[in-house]
Amino acid sequence: MSNADVLKLIKDEDIAYVDIRFTDPRGKLQHVTVMSDQVDEDFLEEGFMFDGSSVAGWKSIEASDMKLMPDSESVYIDPFYAEKTLAVHCSIVEPDTGEPYERDPRGTAEKAEAYLKSSGIGDAAFFGPEAEFFLFDDVKYSVAPNKVGYEIDADGAAWNTDTDFEMGNLGHRPDYKGGYFPVNPSDDGQDIRSEMLTTMKMIGMKVDKHHHEVATTQHELGLIFDSLTKQADELQKYKYVIHNVALSYGRSATFMPKPIKGDNGSGMHVNMSIWKDNKPLFAGDKYADLSQEALYFIGGILKHAKTLNAFTNPSTNSYKRLIPGFEAPVLRAYSARNRSGCVRIPWTESPKAKRVEARFPDPAANPYLCFAALLMAGLDGIKNKIDPGPSSDKNLYDLPPEELQGIPTVCGSLREALESLADDHDFLLAGDVFTKDQIEGYLELKWEEVYEFEHTPHPIEYKMYYSC
Ligand code: GLU
Ligand code: MG
Ligand code: MG
Repeated sequence: MSNADVLKLIKDEDIAYVDIRFTDPRGKLQHVTVMSDQVDEDFLEEGFMFDGSSVAGWKSIEASDMKLMPDSESVYIDPFYAEKTLAVHCSIVEPDTGEPYERDPRGTAEKAEAYLKSSGIGDAAFFGPEAEFFLFDDVKYSVAPNKVGYEIDADGAAWNTDTDFEMGNLGHRPDYKGGYFPVNPSDDGQDIRSEMLTTMKMIGMKVDKHHHEVATTQHELGLIFDSLTKQADELQKYKYVIHNVALSYGRSATFMPKPIKGDNGSGMHVNMSIWKDNKPLFAGDKYADLSQEALYFIGGILKHAKTLNAFTNPSTNSYKRLIPGFEAPVLRAYSARNRSGCVRIPWTESPKAKRVEARFPDPAANPYLCFAALLMAGLDGIKNKIDPGPSSDKNLYDLPPEELQGIPTVCGSLREALESLADDHDFLLAGDVFTKDQIEGYLELKWEEVYEFEHTPHPIEYKMYYSC
């Protein structure tokens, strides 16, 4: 869509507001709303000034002016606002030079795509993320029950006063690791997931399916692949729609990677492929019908996995998911067959669909930084011909300890991932895609989270040590 199309849409649809959206380094979508009569050709071309000093990890008060540049390709009519509102995703530029602001994640994603082209390796990189999430009853509503007609009885059970129907466990619950795929009433998320998918389709997203996931009340919706920055935009919309539809049902969605001990966590597998001259670069005659480039790409991902973890698994909670036994990978290995390694090559007959699936990322990731960092690691693999070694086709969870020796692992904590990022990040700096200043700012933000977590007594410590 061109800028002229956006202005026409505002007029034709009688849009009252334009919601200017951008993503902070932690991956949270932020917004500011302007009256639509303020939006003209100049606004769309010149951008919108704002104060970036209040966004964690961005400019200091002394140099806080920043400019939001709307991307007219990303517009959608917001389905959740009472007033008719057009949402648009923005990148951030320096007001004086017009250069991308180096700590803007969306700008990093755009630079990664430009770098791919300038490297001559490919023309476009496609991403297909599979972000899982849990739906819980909304805590806000249970502490303020009058809002939705719930009451809490003396035993703490929630009752819906409209239907006089107990809202607790009715028995139709998937057991631990038993959610995949019984029909309702075990799967109590059918209507809510359908509404989420319909809403996504309505706002122009390319989606195809939904299903219950393995853990109790865990779900996944299918996004169709797209190019890097566009897909990161789509993932922000995906989360936005899921959170807001859940809320309209009086429930809350969480993309926290491991909300429940002992059951599967939420991953965000990332399927990737590169195309050059309208041909799929990853299809070939090597292992699993991959090309040599695809194998080198995997080599780069496995080599830099510990640094990637800082972006792909950026929360302290992420490392509670990356443990054996829950379909989340631990070992830095690849295979066409099993799901226990970091990289899988999904089976497909079609060379066009040939792709590499990174299984370690999780949905706490900032999608712009996550996709950009994965691409940079893969490109480093191709440029430097990094051999991924032999594939690991056994179930890695079942290997005896002696065979496990020698297979490297992903990080065990956010602390370790940040240490790795501080050490090994030259591959991210190629083509100025990431910058040193940006990495420093990101590390500072994330160390705050590590300290917050490490300095807080954990409930389990009371259980283990209170009576010692
Ligand atoms: N939930 C699993 C994970 O943590 C993935 C399950 C699946 O293969 O879809 O990565
Ligand atoms: Mg899944
Ligand atoms: Mg998958």
